[in-house]
Parts: sequence; structure tokens; C-alpha cells
Amino acid sequence: MARINDHYRKLAAGYLFPEIGRRVKAFAGAHPDAKIIRLGIGDVTLPLVPAVVDAMRRAVEEMGTAAGFRGYAPEQGYEFLLDAIREHDYASRGIAVERDAVFVSDGSKQDSGNIQEIFGHEVRIAVTDPVYPVYVDTNVMAGRTSAADERGYYGGILYLPASEANGFVPDPPAERADVAYLCFPNNPTGAVATREQLVRWVAWARDADAVLIYDAAYDAYIQDPAIPRSIYEVPGAESCAIEMRSYSKRAGFTGVRCAYTVIPKGVTGTTAAGDRVALQTLWARRQATKFNGVPYVIQRGAWATHSPAGKKQTAEQVAFYMENARRLRGGLTSAGFHVFGGVHAPYIWMRVPAGMTSWGFFDELLAKANVVGTPGAGFGPAGEGYLRLSAFNSRANVDEALERIRRGFGS
Ligand SMILES: *Cc1c(COP(=O)(O)O)cnc(C)c1O
Repeated sequence: MARINDHYRKLAAGYLFPEIGRRVKAFAGAHPDAKIIRLGIGDVTLPLVPAVVDAMRRAVEEMGTAAGFRGYAPEQGYEFLLDAIREHDYASRGIAVERDAVFVSDGSKQDSGNIQEIFGHEVRIAVTDPVYPVYVDTNVMAGRTSAADERGYYGGILYLPASEANGFVPDPPAERADVAYLCFPNNPTGAVATREQLVRWVAWARDADAVLIYDAAYDAYIQDPAIPRSIYEVPGAESCAIEMRSYSKRAGFTGVRCAYTVIPKGVTGTTAAGDRVALQTLWARRQATKFNGVPYVIQRGAWATHSPAGKKQTAEQVAFYMENARRLRGGLTSAGFHVFGGVHAPYIWMRVPAGMTSWGFFDELLAKANVVGTPGAGFGPAGEGYLRLSAFNSRANVDEALERIRRGFGS
């Protein structure tokens, strides 16, 4: 008898995006002439930049020669990519990262979902609310929680509300937690943490002997040089923080797949007997057992984003999306909406009209403007009352969506 992992049955029934897909499909079926604009799922829309395409093409050619062929990639990544990451993402900002600390992977979704495996069953995790669902769901699957209550909170997880009152950046908790997931710039709220706020988080983690898992998937969208792109810009983070970054949003790699996780040697956990163990060693063991590396061609593509041409071309893409975000913010504000985010992140977090739920507003936005957003409630109970719009689209679609929202909802 193949007993299933019963913890999977605790997961909230419909995953957010399939439910959105179902509603959009039903609407499109009933209104075949509607030209639907999708500002829902956070996926990039611009093609790969020439520097990346050239590097990948050359890598494919190499692989077709006896001298250039390569089989399994080194477990943690090719040195050319590890060193490009260390130099361009860290040393350039005054941060020393050792080569052993960098683990190239096929995605931050995987890494942020898998990292919980190296922690004990009994650790108490803390998440912001709303939150990227992967952090919560993977801990539910691993059995660290009880079933969700009627509001959607899983027992055993410490939820830290991100609200207008705290600018969507919660303070560290007074209650005990062992592992805290942070994501800045934030998906879904678009909020970004200041240096002072990150200093408080690092101080809390060191004090509580906790580990921070810092998801910086949107680091390239930060516009203000005073805002840290990396948690390691805060002194002390090298002894308590794991950082994840991805080429998905910074270089349009959502379909190419390349990311990395940094675990400095000084980040430790304890055994049952109270001995300290470097998490880097555990993650290296985990990856060596369950992962066979990112393809050479893909790593060459990621490497090319760090070249002068690659940097310039990918920065232009980010600037293009950020202009969309700027228009969304301005247009929605002048239509009378309260909007947040969109300044250091490609997401706009808008308050839904008074008296409406986020799913109710989702339906109305679809019906009146034929625009698809993402209901805030899908990211956690504190997301109720908000809707996320993504800046990943063409300029024409963004302008058209705004025009329709103005017509449908404008005051
Ligand atoms: C898009 C995104 C990622 C990136 O995931 P990949 O698997 O690298 O594509 C990671 N974290 C958050 C919060 C995201 O929104």
C-alpha cells in the first residue's frame, strides 16, 4: 500500500494561478471578442538580450566539437560563472564571497523551496504575510505545520503582517523563530527594505541564533543606490543569512532557468547534541545528492549578463519594465486608487475599492476593463483587500489597460 504524504492534503485546495486561469477562461468563453490584457502572473515578456543569445549560441557550437564538449557540470557551477557572480554582484559592492559559498542552480523557486530540507522538523519558521507561496507550501509539505485554519493560517508558522502601517516591511518578531524568510524587493507588495530595517533583521537573527533566508530575485529593480541589493551589505549577515538570486527577472531567464544561492561558511545550525554545523556543508551534500548541475550553455548565458554589453542590455530591459511600473502607479493614482510598490519592483500593490474583496475586485476588473490582476488574498490572509498588477508587459498593453481602468473605474 502506497501511503501518500498526508501533509500535501493540508495545502489550500486551488493554487492561486490555476484558479485565475479558470476564471479568465470562463470569462473569455462568455466574451469571445474581449481583448484580455494579462497583468497577473509575474513572468517577463521581453526577448533574451543579444549578449546572452550570442554566448549561448557559441556555447552550443563548442558542445558540438570534440574539444569543447562537456558532460555533467561541476556540482556548484562552472568557475567562470561563480567568479563572475563574486566579482560583479558582490566584490563590486565591497562584499567578499568565497567560491565555496556560491551554488548555481536552475531556479530560486527550487532553492527557496528546497532549502527547508536542511533544517530540523521542529524549527519554527517565520514568514511575512502576504508572502511568495513557495516558502509556506514547502514547509507544509514537509510536515512542519498543522492544517490551515478558516482564515488560511497554518498552525506552527509565525506570520508577520506586512501592512500599510509598517510600509509592508514587518519588524523582526518578539516571539521565537528559527528561520525567517524575507524577500526584498518584495513579491507581491513591491516594498523594499531600507538598510536600517535590514540592520534590525540581522541583529535579531544573530541575537535569536536564527537563520535569514533572503530572496533577492528582484535586486536589479532597486533604483536607489542607498538601498541594499544584498543582505551581505549589512555587517554580520555573513554569519546568519542565506541569499538567493535569480537571472529570471533581471535578465529574462524565466524560461532559460538559472539562479544561485549563497551560503557563507559562518552560517550555522545546531545538532541535537548542541554542536554547530555549517549549513554550507549540508547544502553542498544536498545538491550533490539531488541535483546534477545547470547546463553549460545556460551558465554561459548567465555569465554573459555580467559582461559590459550584457549589463547594459539587461539594464535597459529592467528600465523598460520600470517605466511600465511608473505609468501604472501614476495612472492608477490619477484614477483614484491607492497604490503601493512599483518604485523598486515591477509590482504594483493596489488597495481594492472599499467594501470589496480582492477576488471580487479581480472579477470586476476582468469584467469592466478586461484586465487580469492577481488577488492579494492568494498570497496570504493579510493580502485580502489588495490586488497585484505586474509591469511585465508591452508598453501598448500597459497604456491600454490603464485607459480601460480609467474608463471603467475613474472618478
Ligand atoms: C520570480 C521569483 C523568483 C525566481 O524564481 P526562479 O525559479 O529563479 O525563476 C524567486 N522568488 C520570488 C519571490 C519570485 O517572485
